[in-house]
Amino acid sequence: MKINRRSFIEKSILATAGTLISHKQIQAGVVLKHKGLRNKPVVISTWTHGYAANEAAWQILSKKGKALDAVEKGVMVIEADADNTSVGLGGLPDRDGFVTLDASIMDENGNAGSVSFLQHIVHPISVARLVMEKTPHVMLSGEGALQFALANGFKKENLLTEKAKKEWEEWKKEAKYQPVINIENHDTISMVAIDAQGNLSGACTTSGLAYKMHGRVGDSPIIGAGLYVDNEVGAAAATGMGELVMKTLGSFLIVEFMRNGLSPQQACEKAIERIKQKLPDYKKFQIGYIALNKAGETGAYSIQEGFNYAKYDKKGNKLIDADYILK
Ligand code: ASP
Repeated sequence: MKINRRSFIEKSILATAGTLISHKQIQAGVVLKHKGLRNKPVVISTWTHGYAANEAAWQILSKKGKALDAVEKGVMVIEADADNTSVGLGGLPDRDGFVTLDASIMDENGNAGSVSFLQHIVHPISVARLVMEKTPHVMLSGEGALQFALANGFKKENLLTEKAKKEWEEWKKEAKYQPVINIENHDTISMVAIDAQGNLSGACTTSGLAYKMHGRVGDSPIIGAGLYVDNEVGAAAATGMGELVMKTLGSFLIVEFMRNGLSPQQACEKAIERIKQKLPDYKKFQIGYIALNKAGETGAYSIQEGFNYAKYDKKGNKLIDADYILK
């Protein structure tokens, strides 16, 4: 029997996506590869704090700088903001009073670096970048990550601000662990960008869930969960209850959906649908995904109402409310 190559490829795509993708969508994916880079540079990042982060990223992108530098510098603004209680300095501590940080970064060559359970360092994203650039490893954790940071000139600092300490002391009176949907007791900054050269990169940094168990690591430093970049296809990143993202490897899944022809918006929706299918208690939690493809198209989707993200392109910087599954 003669094998029709095209129909074989299309069947494989259908099987890989595990879903029904129309011929039109497959063609859209094919077209995407050929239509070139329409909208660049573009940067998108999670939550309202994404707006300020985008401003810093755009400083680099608008001068034809690299997406990798843009995403690092972008999220650093939020890491250094002592008033932000979910990222870096000023982040709410774990239940024992320790501020522990997770971060990851990926570049256009598929290189990846991350740190988890890192303490005392204001810019975990820059440590993650050094792990990527200076070591043969992808992730350093805890004390080892701290030693690596100190050996590379980072300063040891107290990240627990008076404001965060007071909130923790208040929480300790009842010591009830309860993630609150959309309330800022856990709001990662995740950012993905395409630069003027058409290269993609992404970064993700967080103090994780407030009052988590000591030692808990979330999705943000897990490559493929909190962040994934494939320069041929696109990039995706997550925020929200990390355990759900880790169990479904959300960011990798979104990039694979885009590889199979879905738009960034459709891919984010399918990844949230996967959570719905696989994790029955999903209604109790919030997850927000953002995605960007090689053509500079973007998308976002969440479980609950209330997730927003900031997008900066030639038209300027704006906050956008994401669509959501629980209506
Ligand atoms: N994804 C982060 C974590 O689970 C928290 C968040 O983005 O809200 O650590």
